[in-house]
Amino acid sequence: MVINSIKMVIDQKNLLHNIDYLKNLRGKDILPVVKANAYGHGVELIVKALYAGGQKEVAVARYMEAENILKMNIGDDFKVLVFESIGDIELIKNNPNIDIAVNDFAELKEFIKAGIPSNRMQLKIDLGFGRNGIAISEIPELGKFTTENNLKYKGIFSHLFAVNYEDGLELITLFTDLVNSIGKDKFEMIHLQNSAAVMNYDCEIATHMRVGMLTYGLQEVGYFDPNLRQVFSLEGQIAGVRDIEDNKYVAYELKDDLDIEGCKYLAKIKIGYGDGFLKRNEKSKCIINNKEFKIAQVTMDNTFIEVDGSVKEGDTVLLYNDITKAVNFTGMNIYELLTVLSPRIPRVYKY
Ligand SMILES: *Cc1c(COP(=O)(O)O)cnc(C)c1O
Repeated sequence: MVINSIKMVIDQKNLLHNIDYLKNLRGKDILPVVKANAYGHGVELIVKALYAGGQKEVAVARYMEAENILKMNIGDDFKVLVFESIGDIELIKNNPNIDIAVNDFAELKEFIKAGIPSNRMQLKIDLGFGRNGIAISEIPELGKFTTENNLKYKGIFSHLFAVNYEDGLELITLFTDLVNSIGKDKFEMIHLQNSAAVMNYDCEIATHMRVGMLTYGLQEVGYFDPNLRQVFSLEGQIAGVRDIEDNKYVAYELKDDLDIEGCKYLAKIKIGYGDGFLKRNEKSKCIINNKEFKIAQVTMDNTFIEVDGSVKEGDTVLLYNDITKAVNFTGMNIYELLTVLSPRIPRVYKY
């Protein structure tokens, strides 16, 4: 029997369910964020499933990511918004399906002068975080420039970085006033909220929600909406079971060093830290045949699990089946846990 490596199975029905559910819940459209390999889910599968479900635009952090997506030939009408500034005007002109974030006013004037259509531009406003974006002090001049040149933009957005609830409300009011001062009819899409902000606030002026986590049915500790459905599962087969009672070594370590006293059998699965399944998962639990078993050792290519005599080669194993437990055990947050899963793990559709 040839047993393949552990796979990430993507449930496209759950993905589209989450999009629909969020749209109805808040009465806004979704701009799904698919940066970092779609939060580890595999960007190609996610983007194709989204497009099949009618989604025409997604967002990424870097130009590189947009270039990769466009190589997949999703569709002529499919757009990718890049958050970082793309300095190279030729690059922008040669990639008409990329929507660009305009991160300062000087850049805006330069792009207009170079003949880049404003309906490919999304203006990023800096609400005082000072990271990047058009400064609040530049908005009056920007408004004037927009009117004089009769510009209509693809969008306007900012980042809601509130540390407490009241600050968040203030920022929403500020953002709303700024958008209105330029003229909200100048923008096809207006967006402010990421996943946490969607859970905490309404933003009336926004037409879209710019969400990653919730799209994938993942929720930060402290939130729980049972209507969202997890999109991924990490699963595969036991690649072999060994009786280790008489062995001195297990994989590369002395059995005595492994702290697996009383364990008679070790099951091997094909996933390791080379796949982004980190060593810190050692001593956590996985599921085989609906029963919990403890992970004894993670090597670069394989992971060994303490099992009993009931587990056989070819049995199904589930990893990270309870994401909250995995987060608590590893001390990583959900974003980190998933984005470190490497491209070596095959991503496949469920349906
Ligand atoms: C990553 C990112 C998001 C999505 O954040 P989630 O918490 O996953 O919803 C939204 N906006 C920007 C600018 C981002 O970089």
